[in-house]
Amino acid sequence: HSFPTRRPSHLLARPITFTRCLMKIAILSRRPKLYSTRRLEEEAKKRGHQVKIIDTLRCYMNITTQNPYIHYKGKILDKFDAIIPRIGASITFYGAALVRQFEMMGVFVANNSIAITRAQDKLRSLQILSRKGVGLPITGFAYSPDDIQDLINMVGGPPLVIKILEGTQGIGVVLAETRQAAISVIEAFLDLQAHIMIQEYIKEAKAADIRCFVVNGKVIAAMERQAKLGEFRSNIHRGGTIRLAKLTTEERSTAVRAAKVIGLDIAGVDLLRSNRGPLVMEVNSSPGLEGIEKATQKNVAEIIIKSIEKRALKY
Ligand code: ADP
Ligand code: MG
Repeated sequence: HSFPTRRPSHLLARPITFTRCLMKIAILSRRPKLYSTRRLEEEAKKRGHQVKIIDTLRCYMNITTQNPYIHYKGKILDKFDAIIPRIGASITFYGAALVRQFEMMGVFVANNSIAITRAQDKLRSLQILSRKGVGLPITGFAYSPDDIQDLINMVGGPPLVIKILEGTQGIGVVLAETRQAAISVIEAFLDLQAHIMIQEYIKEAKAADIRCFVVNGKVIAAMERQAKLGEFRSNIHRGGTIRLAKLTTEERSTAVRAAKVIGLDIAGVDLLRSNRGPLVMEVNSSPGLEGIEKATQKNVAEIIIKSIEKRALKY
């Protein structure tokens, strides 16, 4: 590549310069062989960038006045122009701290640490979204077993969905069809000291949800996930199937708004199709690429890299 490129100056009164900076990009990921990591690496390299996959948990930080820096496996970490954080739910705290350290060093990050932290707490995300008027399933949160009866009434009674806050991939999400079942499950979870939220069950969604992939304020791809027969959770890990989704204008704007309110530039926003319009179920800060690329046949990885080129240039 040779940059900048110029149009022949005789064609234009003032030559326009087209520039695209070639960058050194780090992907923060624990798993270099994961589809998402590989695809991002591949597309970034195709566009001429240098790419390194960095194991999030092998970075360690020095937090000293005016000179924050990072070591990686015994050596000082190279300078990067952009960081793509891919932080799994199990290492949220350390991952967010590392992203914050890059921010303190003045490095561009594709998703910022505050937004990542917000997204990884389902309850916190819903609270922030509710304040901003984004459509949500009615949701309750309580501590004491003494308040279960009224909590169930508060969210409209059974059937309801009970979720462990720290759960992912559908594990820890239970459908309670009767009041008695709900009370038993809630009591059991509270007794185990789990943090749970109680949610109205959106029956009309018919065991399907919509994953909207938002990049830089636009839905660039969307898929529908349908639960397998006899199951209400549409997660792929629970046997769900995926296909391309066509979105309404309202669904699009809801997904874009949810990502914006949480503060994510790259986000996977999950919607339920309800009788009162799209409802946001959760917002993911490291959405997977495999399902969405396969279901939509779109080059999501390339779109992400292009958006990072644009934003890093302005940074
Ligand atoms: P996880 O983070 O484990 O994926 P989710 O909150 O996304 O947990 O729930 C898993 C699945 O359960 C969703 O993809 C959806 O299919 C189903 N589900 C969750 N909440 C509701 C609800 N309130 N109404 C109907 N279905 C729901
Ligand atoms: Mg989910």
